[in-house]
Amino acid sequence: MNHLFDGLTAEGLKHPDRDFVRTSGDRQMTYGEMEACSARYANLLIDLGLEPGDRVAVQVEKSLDALLLYLATVRAGGVFLPLNTAYTPSEVEYFLSDAKPRLFVCAPGKLEALKPVAEKAGAEIETLGTDKGLGDVDGSLAEKAASASADFETIEREAEDLAAILYTSGTTGRSKGAMLTHANLLSNARTLKDYWGFSQDDVLLHALPIFHTHGLFVASNTVMLAGGAMIFLPKFDLDEIFAYLPKSTSMMGVPTFYTRMLADERLNRDSTAHMRLFTSGSAPLLAETHRAFEDRTGQRILERYGMTETNMNTSNPYEGERRAGTVGFPLPGVDLRIADPDSGATLEDGQIGMIEVKGPNVFKGYWQMPDKTASEFREDGFFITGDLGQIDADGYVSIVGRGKDLVITGGYNVYPKEIELIIDEVDGVVESAVIGVPHPDFGEGVVGVVVARDGLDEDEVMTALEGKMARFKQPKRVVFVEELPRNTMGKVQKNILRETFGNILS
Ligand code: ATP
Ligand code: MG
Repeated sequence: MNHLFDGLTAEGLKHPDRDFVRTSGDRQMTYGEMEACSARYANLLIDLGLEPGDRVAVQVEKSLDALLLYLATVRAGGVFLPLNTAYTPSEVEYFLSDAKPRLFVCAPGKLEALKPVAEKAGAEIETLGTDKGLGDVDGSLAEKAASASADFETIEREAEDLAAILYTSGTTGRSKGAMLTHANLLSNARTLKDYWGFSQDDVLLHALPIFHTHGLFVASNTVMLAGGAMIFLPKFDLDEIFAYLPKSTSMMGVPTFYTRMLADERLNRDSTAHMRLFTSGSAPLLAETHRAFEDRTGQRILERYGMTETNMNTSNPYEGERRAGTVGFPLPGVDLRIADPDSGATLEDGQIGMIEVKGPNVFKGYWQMPDKTASEFREDGFFITGDLGQIDADGYVSIVGRGKDLVITGGYNVYPKEIELIIDEVDGVVESAVIGVPHPDFGEGVVGVVVARDGLDEDEVMTALEGKMARFKQPKRVVFVEELPRNTMGKVQKNILRETFGNILS
């Protein structure tokens, strides 16, 4: 028994002729072919010396073969370790020296630059391209896999064995490797499949990257578990989205997917009427986006909340009210509490505090960081997420921001999101980010970074904000940027803003 692979594929393999993945390049693969092709890759991994527990680090463009490589690694008893395609060779060097993989797979075009990096970390290096797939794809790994046997006896792995190490997005500091077990991943996929009603009739429009928990686990694992199909787009592209939407039943996205779709006139009731579900996560979905999407399409986006370390923690209901600006209820099996960040004491509903979670979804710890792991768990096993939130009287959880983004000015706590929501209502403001920067009297002072339509100036924004909030919360300065710095998952990188505007109050 291989806990994750057998668990994820049991349903799909009952119907080996059904579609597993279709790509926008018109490749099509059934569940039966998935079994055979992942077997070829698994045989190759064993030939290359992979032993149970060995890491397979992968930095390649999104492709069906990259997904097969994930499945093959799990089948062969290895630990899958995907890396963001945007990382430079010197960044990759950090991850490889930290994770010490047996094998590193990179894009063919990066072989020259990354070969010395792999050698330094003691890893074998192979390449994987994106073109046409197994047997017809460029890259040494696909070439070798094509001649490997399609029979493979899947290696036994238990629930508590590691299946993946995923590095966090690095939004608040250096990325940490989260160790995820077979049980962490399978239990969360089961929960999401049931909660969101995925079945073999679903076709998921998949435009997310697969180096991140959202696209790899939330999307791919959940659909696979249900025996459904995916349409794999290499990236989010509006023309492709609207071309493949009619063939889909559901889509998972980050908030920027939805704001971009809203800016396109092809988004309307007709083009979405057949869709069963749109979900959003990885970054906050503005209540305004939620409402605008509903006005235009009649569809209420379902927002959920999770993180690399914990998989998904909360979700708005599938049946029942999806409340804009909230991330819904703790998922079945997940214990969630709001705690005093310092003492850890549980707070009453309505109060803002640290979100802490416990459940089968929560990771085993940070790779090679025992001290960090110990400091992020309470004695009773709850994981301290680093996100601040509150629970309303109806049980809906909302996220107020990250603990690290909290601004403490003159001894008072300011939650950036509260101020951002008020700034966003000012006429002419497109969006905003509130940060704390060093202030000579108050320790930190509040600064509003604003994306505005033409012509808006600082005084106008300041005047508009007057009287809308307590004085200590009011920004001391408002600055303008063309756009907010975001990473690939649509997360605003406040560390960059703090660097840029760090001296503005001193
Ligand atoms: P790092 O931990 O390295 O600083 P990161 O926390 O951004 O990076 P991820 O694990 O990719 O890395 O992201 C998890 C975080 O994303 C959560 O802790 C939370 O802050 C944010 N997040 C996820 N979903 C939502 C959501 N629906 N609304 C608001 N924030 C969300
Ligand atoms: Mg994090």
